[in-house]
Amino acid sequence: MGTTSAVTFTGEKHKPTAQPSMFTVHGVGVVDGVAIGREVVMGTVALEVPHYYISSKAIESEVTRLEQAIKKVQSDLQQQIDSLPQDAPRELEPLLTVHRLLLSDPLLVDKACNLIRQQNYNAEWALTTQGQQLTQQFSAIDDTYLREREADVRQVVERVLMILTGNGEDLVHEWPKILSEEELIVVARDISPGDMLRLRQSKFAAFVTDLGGATSHTAIIARSMGIPAIVGVGDFHRAVQDGDVIIVDGHAGVVIVNPAKHVLEEYRQKKQYYIDKKAQLQALRDASAQTLDGVLITLETNIELPFEAKTSYEAGADGIGLFRSEFLFLGRSDLPTEQEQYQAYAEAIKAMQGKPVTIRTLDIGADKNLDTEQAVATNPALGLRAIRYCLAHPEIFQVQLRALWRAAQHGPLRILIPMVSSMAEVDATKYALEQARQSLIQEGVSITQGVQLGAMVEVPAIAIALEPFAQALDFLSIGTNDLIQYILAVDRIDKDVAHLYDPLHPAVIRVLDQVITIAERHNTPVSICGEIAGQEQFTPVLLGLGLTSFSVSVNQLLPIKNKVINSHSNDLRRRVATAINRAQPVNLDLLSEGQPYKSKRNNKLI
Ligand code: PEP
Ligand code: MG
Repeated sequence: MGTTSAVTFTGEKHKPTAQPSMFTVHGVGVVDGVAIGREVVMGTVALEVPHYYISSKAIESEVTRLEQAIKKVQSDLQQQIDSLPQDAPRELEPLLTVHRLLLSDPLLVDKACNLIRQQNYNAEWALTTQGQQLTQQFSAIDDTYLREREADVRQVVERVLMILTGNGEDLVHEWPKILSEEELIVVARDISPGDMLRLRQSKFAAFVTDLGGATSHTAIIARSMGIPAIVGVGDFHRAVQDGDVIIVDGHAGVVIVNPAKHVLEEYRQKKQYYIDKKAQLQALRDASAQTLDGVLITLETNIELPFEAKTSYEAGADGIGLFRSEFLFLGRSDLPTEQEQYQAYAEAIKAMQGKPVTIRTLDIGADKNLDTEQAVATNPALGLRAIRYCLAHPEIFQVQLRALWRAAQHGPLRILIPMVSSMAEVDATKYALEQARQSLIQEGVSITQGVQLGAMVEVPAIAIALEPFAQALDFLSIGTNDLIQYILAVDRIDKDVAHLYDPLHPAVIRVLDQVITIAERHNTPVSICGEIAGQEQFTPVLLGLGLTSFSVSVNQLLPIKNKVINSHSNDLRRRVATAINRAQPVNLDLLSEGQPYKSKRNNKLI
């Protein structure tokens, strides 16, 4: 990519002094596309509040809104001080007084008002921005007493935010609302999958995070939102300020801060290219995903929330290949009830109008943790995750299985078990499933439709000794995100080893080849739902391995279909087999090179 950079920033904490000079940073691009917008740097609290630009006419009323919220907190604090019981701890009164005084400190209040007046920030955005500035200053002070004031600032800011958002008790569940037409780009140290889920309700144009790998769940959600995203950019969030203009090139993994005019122009054109490409691909919506030599490929989607089933159906998906049910459990302080889960699963099944829906049982653990549980495992990716967690918590698992049985009465349901590593887990799941069915029947619930049961192939143990699983289960789904991390011993969310995360490693290809061959031998349908299924550069390899079923994020459905209908399956199978037989790494360039069929099809688009 021909980026013109004035300074190349490599993640260290140095920022060019002359502002606003252009500089670039590099990370791992996880979603293609270009976004151009203003940057919003997110801290933990800031993530939860609305961010939008206000019109100049609204400035004074916005300032008043902030001042009134501050006054309300001050008077609440005073009331608390006045009504402190005799036996209250001695430190409480001075603490509350400090909080009240902080709320008249011009460093917090006047500066926040200035941000509203000069930058047109809404009140919540202005307050959190100034609050962050102050906490950063306090944390750098070499005096324990003053350093502790950092927490006080954070607490008073949160109290004011609760008044501003009108949501005193439930700040955490307040969705950010972006009202401005101007595009905003989120920059954060990290975003948890739960926070990401909240952010997907908003109109952010791109994400850039300091941490994370290409198959982290944060990246996966960005992909399902279809917006450019870059992870693993080092200490970037400290190097930029709210309001900086930035360009995010998700394909190249490059972020350009304060771009020069000609660079901006270059990227406007690039952005348009992606928009045009997307529009062109719409023509393939109703085309069947058949290779040039007539092999029919099943294209299904990966979803995190039930409403995406409708989008999948409209995009022409053959089914839902993976519904990550754990996202119903994230970002909340309680567990979803059986009725709530039933409604979510039934919504997805009904939306697919008779096409199959694969719902994966709760895959909690590793980078997806319940808010109600403290993550304590020393090595969470190898710990009490997914099916291990569910079998250890029958009270949670039974609720989900009952909800799944009830939902299955609305259409074809496939239940998928995550992180299986032994047949004992399959047997225990079958037992639990039957228990759930019996309990419903005993209550008089009519269960006439059956379900299919399958397992994720994502732990090397099952991939290496697949036969009993292929015999005992109705289907298999290869989860390469985890399978690769476990085969190569490379943490999928650790940016420092992201360069070692290689889907084309000969060991990975050999395992995939073996899984597909054995599943075929047992007539057990096998598909792939890891992120490589939705990455066009890997489609030839997967077709060459004989895979005929892919599950991808809804935004990748048409790009992958386009790739499929321009591929020659048998030719690719020959080429990949040759590479495997010679124990050579599969060469992507060779796979797309000299394909005799490229020009044969009229509806070839790109
Ligand atoms: C996988 O591991 O490939 C997968 C699809 O599951 P998840 O990304 O949710 O772990
Ligand atoms: Mg997985």
